Amino acid sequence: MKQKIVVYPGSFDPPTNGHIDLIERASRIFDKVIILIMVNIQKSYTFTVEERVEMLNNIFKKRKFKNVSVDVYKGLLVDYLKKNKLNIVLRGLRAVSDFEYEFQMVLTNRKMFDRMETIYLMPDVRWTYLSSSLVKEIANFGGDISDFVPSEIVSTIRRKFKQ
Ligand code: ADP
Repeated sequence: MKQKIVVYPGSFDPPTNGHIDLIERASRIFDKVIILIMVNIQKSYTFTVEERVEMLNNIFKKRKFKNVSVDVYKGLLVDYLKKNKLNIVLRGLRAVSDFEYEFQMVLTNRKMFDRMETIYLMPDVRWTYLSSSLVKEIANFGGDISDFVPSEIVSTIRRKFKQ
């Protein structure tokens, strides 16, 4: 039987408990989850692509999620999907504020690749307000981020902001 593979694109700058919550949920639904680090030209990043790959690999190495992998793509999501013969995408919905952007992305991507389908999952209520920028804001002022990101990457994030 054909494997059901889902691609989870995003910045993961850095990954948070919200991202991990979604990935764990997806890994129970799909045979394989590919976390795809993308480059969004409207954003500037704090962590290099290599640092983000390493953080995600560190998180999943120790957990029992053998069907999760990490990939990087500097281009359009639809091109990545077509190139790899994939068509299912995962995104997260936290609050109504996420909706407008996601709606625009789905319709735009569909125009370019009509077989692409996006699945939305909602995180545990504990993470509905959480974002990578919030984590960076706290870390920048020396606050405690350990409730917001996986323990495997707390020191990497702290080190970055001490530089
Ligand atoms: P992007 O630059 O694509 O928005 P992010 O890494 O910020 O990259 O987010 C990637 C995806 O993860 C988005 O669909 C976003 O809604 C989702 N996401 C981010 N934070 C959370 C969270 N706390 N709970 C659930 N989903 C989240």
